[in-house]
Amino acid sequence: MTALLERLGDRLSGVRGRLSADASMGKLTWFQVGGPAELFFQPADEEDLALFLERLPEEIPVLVVGVGSNLLVRDGGIAGAVIRLSAKGFAGVEQISDHRLRAGAALPDKRLAAAALEAGIGGLHFYHGIPGAVGGALRMNAGANGVETAERVVEVHAIDRKGRRHVLTKSEMGYAYRHSEAPEGLIFTGAIFEGVPADRDEIRARMDEVQTHRETVQPIREKTGGSTFKNPPGTSAWKEIDRAGCRGLTVGGAQMSQMHCNFMINTGGATAFDLETLGETVRQRVRATSGILLDWEIKRLGRFEPGRDVMPADSQ
Ligand SMILES: Cc1cc2nc3c(=O)[nH]c(=O)nc-3n(C[C@H](O)[C@H](O)[C@H](O)COP(=O)(O)OP(=O)(O)OC[C@H]3O[C@@H](n4cnc5c(N)ncnc54)[C@H](O)[C@@H]3O)c2cc1C
Repeated sequence: MTALLERLGDRLSGVRGRLSADASMGKLTWFQVGGPAELFFQPADEEDLALFLERLPEEIPVLVVGVGSNLLVRDGGIAGAVIRLSAKGFAGVEQISDHRLRAGAALPDKRLAAAALEAGIGGLHFYHGIPGAVGGALRMNAGANGVETAERVVEVHAIDRKGRRHVLTKSEMGYAYRHSEAPEGLIFTGAIFEGVPADRDEIRARMDEVQTHRETVQPIREKTGGSTFKNPPGTSAWKEIDRAGCRGLTVGGAQMSQMHCNFMINTGGATAFDLETLGETVRQRVRATSGILLDWEIKRLGRFEPGRDVMPADSQ
């Protein structure tokens, strides 16, 4: 047990969810790299989450993760508490009106798409191809095939660092391309989505199309974090990466995929240091070739290992 969990022992009595110390973040992310979380908590339900946050001393940082399909956790691990919502308490989905679904934040995006199909609700098919869960989609404004989360969200339910509940309207989520302006400390617990009337065969055909397309153009069976960089205005990140000669570029066990060069992959033994160094090298080379400074889409979290900091391209 780490000192932190020992120290919090009494204070957290009454909390029902799973608490552990030094939890491996590598097991919780698609890249399968990264140091441990000092304290890891999986709340049983919303009430349990609120109680945990209320009781956790204010100075302890809190970070929420989904299924880790957009995360690069650094090798030095994460100080403070990492929260991952449990499927049991947060992965429900129900139809609440003709074209609306209420979904928990731990519901996989794929299951949101499947529930929409079953209910005959169109416009949510794009979630079929996104490997995250609803909480991550709400934070990242996840999107594909010309549709994004911002177009389908009606309201979002959240809990703040002090354990208080909030309901945010779509405009309060402050959505932009792969970004939300909602306060960083909020933990989304669920949301209401609205689709459009559609025929089930048509929805199914669009979901199949999404899947087939992905299998041919993206390395979806690799250890990856999806698109590494956001598309800059007027061009695509992959085109600029290709132009800068970075397709297949390797640092240690990290590589820019040959199949889709905006996807970074862990070919086996990569560390977070290798992956982030590769990303910053690509940013430098693209800037030198086209003058564009790429913006990370992947969220990088946690501490560097001592003496193994990665310098961002913009500060070099
Ligand atoms: C093969 C592959 C393909 C992908 N294709 C796409 C694509 O087409 N379109 C696209 O948009 N993305 C894509 N992604 C990226 C990723 O799947 C999305 O960003 C997804 O929405 C992240 O969800 P997650 O549950 O994995 O979140 P995580 O990666 O765990 O977290 C991402 C961010 O969301 C925050 N977060 C997670 N849960 C919550 C919550 N409950 N409350 C508040 N904040 C939260 C985290 O703190 C973090 O900042 C792809 C990734 C992979 C690996």
